[in-house]
Amino acid sequence: MNVKSITYRNFRNIEDAALSFTPGVNILWGNNAQGKTNALEGIYCFACGKSFRGVHDRELLRFGASEGALSLDFCDERRDQNLVLQLYSEKARRMIKNGVTIRRSADFVGSFHGVLFCPEHLSMIKGAPQLRRAFLDAAISQLRPAYLAALSDYAAVLKQRNALLKREEESQAARMPLYEVLTAQMAELNTRIVQTRMKYIKLLDTSVGQFLEDMTGGLEHTALRYVSDADPDRYGGDARAMSEAFYALCTSYAGREFAACSTLHGCHRDDISITLDGREARLYASQGQDRSIALAMKLGEGELCRAATGEYPVFLFDDVLSELDAGRQRYLMQRLGGRQVIMTSCNESLFAGMDVNMIHVSAGSYENAVPQENGEG
Ligand code: ATP
Ligand code: MG
Repeated sequence: MNVKSITYRNFRNIEDAALSFTPGVNILWGNNAQGKTNALEGIYCFACGKSFRGVHDRELLRFGASEGALSLDFCDERRDQNLVLQLYSEKARRMIKNGVTIRRSADFVGSFHGVLFCPEHLSMIKGAPQLRRAFLDAAISQLRPAYLAALSDYAAVLKQRNALLKREEESQAARMPLYEVLTAQMAELNTRIVQTRMKYIKLLDTSVGQFLEDMTGGLEHTALRYVSDADPDRYGGDARAMSEAFYALCTSYAGREFAACSTLHGCHRDDISITLDGREARLYASQGQDRSIALAMKLGEGELCRAATGEYPVFLFDDVLSELDAGRQRYLMQRLGGRQVIMTSCNESLFAGMDVNMIHVSAGSYENAVPQENGEG
């Protein structure tokens, strides 16, 4: 899968710009605060249906603008496609896929696939569980739009449930009937989400393990495991048994949830356990080791996307190269052959002598390097 071009109007600091890319490695380079990350953020909005910086549409609009738009042209093995996102400060966004207006995000994502790797991901191993869940959710949502729908339904039930638990002016007994209804809904959604995450992690584990061994010349071994209150393996994949067990778990701790005024169990608290040579990487990995695992996870995400869709996604790397040491930089550039990569960097010299498409970024404007002409003119 390749991005051919994208246009931006009133998106972040970009008033009006059109960028085109080659199928290989593309570098957006320039000084700080010029619009490198903004350009990537625009592309990634089409993969996830939202910004990776987790903001509202009005914050994506150029300061003072009331509307703006992004239009992405990309191709997969079968055909050329176009996606458009129209953003407004005062009303809901409009999503258009190949000329047809789409109502639900879950129907919009899933045609364009991208793997994003940004400096924040380098702390994925040691950081809060939320970072690891966000990694999983972004990766899986692109492959399974139904998963994205389940996540947003789960978030809605969780919000309602937490609001109910906080309504302390009412007695626990008075709140119990609604508590049970919401718990049953949550149990069913939790089962779907956990089963999908667990399957994904099992596949990812193999791929990440191979990348890490490859990167370290067979010296380091990692293992990934999904950690949850609800373990589908215990129920042999029986979704109903798993939902019932989850419902029983929550209701048996209802008193604690009412006392805590919040939901204590569920996939919003799950995590990925990552071990390095048998020990928790979170506790023992060096900074370099955790960067290697993060890199292996991103490359693994690309492999799983290819296994599911038949094609590599577009790799979007925001300023990570300078954060990696020379060995890992070489490994990354060499492993990315045959894939489209769009990378940002402040440092042009990192790419000297490489066969890459250089695009200079300055104050929200983008300029392709003029190709060298051979002896003419
Ligand atoms: P760095 O190398 O520091 O990461 P960058 O080129 O990636 O820089 P961006 O994150 O793309 O920088 O931001 C470019 C500029 O856009 C910044 O000055 C930022 O404040 C500005 N900006 C962010 N949001 C908006 C917005 N909604 N409207 C206008 N400008 C914005
Ligand atoms: Mg940036």
